[in-house]
Amino acid sequence: MSLLREAIDPLVRECRILKGHSPGTGSKTSHCLRARDLRQHDSIKLIDTMAEKKKVLIIGGGVIGCAAAYYLARKGISATVIDKGAIGHGCSYGNAGWLVPAHSMPLPAPGALRQAAKWMLRRGSPLYIQPRPSIDMASWLVRFLCNANETRYRSGARPLVGLAKRSLELIDSFVAGLSNGALDFRKSGLTYVCKTSAGLEHSLYELEIAKDLGCDGEELSSEALLARNPILRGPVKGGVYFTGQGQIEPLRFVEALAAEAKALGAEFLPQTEVFEIESKGSRIGAVLTTRGRIEADEFVLAAGSWTRAIAKTIRLRVPIEAGKGYALIYDDPVHMPDVPLLLVERKVAVTPRDGSIRCAGTMELAGMNEQITPMRVQAISQAMADYLHVSPTAEPSEVWRGLRPCTPDGLPMIGRPRKFDNLVLAAGHAMLGLTSSTGTGELVAELISGEKPLLDPRPFCPDRF
Ligand SMILES: Cc1cc2nc3c(=O)[nH]c(=O)nc-3n(C[C@H](O)[C@H](O)[C@H](O)COP(=O)(O)OP(=O)(O)OC[C@H]3O[C@@H](n4cnc5c(N)ncnc54)[C@H](O)[C@@H]3O)c2cc1C
Repeated sequence: MSLLREAIDPLVRECRILKGHSPGTGSKTSHCLRARDLRQHDSIKLIDTMAEKKKVLIIGGGVIGCAAAYYLARKGISATVIDKGAIGHGCSYGNAGWLVPAHSMPLPAPGALRQAAKWMLRRGSPLYIQPRPSIDMASWLVRFLCNANETRYRSGARPLVGLAKRSLELIDSFVAGLSNGALDFRKSGLTYVCKTSAGLEHSLYELEIAKDLGCDGEELSSEALLARNPILRGPVKGGVYFTGQGQIEPLRFVEALAAEAKALGAEFLPQTEVFEIESKGSRIGAVLTTRGRIEADEFVLAAGSWTRAIAKTIRLRVPIEAGKGYALIYDDPVHMPDVPLLLVERKVAVTPRDGSIRCAGTMELAGMNEQITPMRVQAISQAMADYLHVSPTAEPSEVWRGLRPCTPDGLPMIGRPRKFDNLVLAAGHAMLGLTSSTGTGELVAELISGEKPLLDPRPFCPDRF
């Protein structure tokens, strides 16, 4: 193996030189396109045949790591996934389960500064930023605010919607190929519910962008909204309905991806925590874990909100902040929504399930802190009571929180950072990790196998910050 690698490395270097890249001096974008550039050179044939023999180690067994393992395994490249806990028990465990290209907009929206300032003054608002002396957090916030404008929002929405659409296509065929249908995959659409004119105005703005990017949707009058959704408590201003949006049971989906990947040769090592990455020059050699040292040829860093801390061990800058969110499950509700609902002003997602509903929301920027803040949980129950006909005595049967991995421009980091030849980053999916999971997994597998990616990877380039 190492002999073959020795044979290939000069070809890879030569290729870069032919393409005008010298190591460490290529532009950010050109580096991210390396796999595509290489394909045009004869050496890629050798690399393609090598791909099957590569040992790939994926750090993080959330939906992103498991999707990467599955698409690698489909290409005959077997990967090992390691996770510090149980597979799928990070942020991918109890999210709202939405698969929503039409809602795939960057987190920094125009007017975010004004909105955030207003929310910071209100108890139980959808956003809370815990003041803390952190240079990382301060620089993340500055970058976030610089991205919160019309131009960046629209240009960020395009690749996000593209990635989400491709992911939904892939999930469609993934689910169709499974023998049991326990994933509760539905494609019934998505409804935005607005109680204020400002909420409706913003929803219509999102509708216009989503339509422009090929998603189908329509405005609903307040009468139509109430007639279609008996669970809603009036008065409402109106809403928006998007067709073709999906939902799935998040943990079962991750488990199904892992099971299918395993059947194709992938390995899973839960309860195995990485505490250091060993690197020499531009190559990573191994990771040190609580269960020993593990070597590989290629590494994928897909550790969600924990990615920043792990990347620091190899002095790689990954500006990801954790955005804590909560999800509450209510069993046997009096009414069941027919489709997932977004309670726009409170930013709460309501998902119908088999015999229960899940209500998810709030964004708490408080670092890697998994503590449950009762006021945030209360804010979600209050939104339920204000928007929906639910029993006033209803108590959630489950309260869960997860740390969304958020980048300052709202786009995930997917690709090879310039600093390392054998590392692919796949993290920072914020509120859209499930929605864009399979497209990300496919892209990671294409980058590792050296194929021409189906989607343009440039907007996700990890060196863009
Ligand atoms: C309330 C809420 C609702 C949401 N709703 C939706 C939704 O409806 N649709 C949607 O698309 N997205 C939604 N999201 C976002 C989505 O859940 C995330 O984007 C997604 O789960 C991120 O997946 P991941 O694999 O990157 O991270 P994770 O699922 O967090 O996986 C990272 C894994 O890395 C492991 N790890 C960390 N450190 C180490 C280490 N040192 N060694 C080994 N392993 C390590 C962790 O244990 C974890 O399992 C929601 C999030 C929240 C909080």
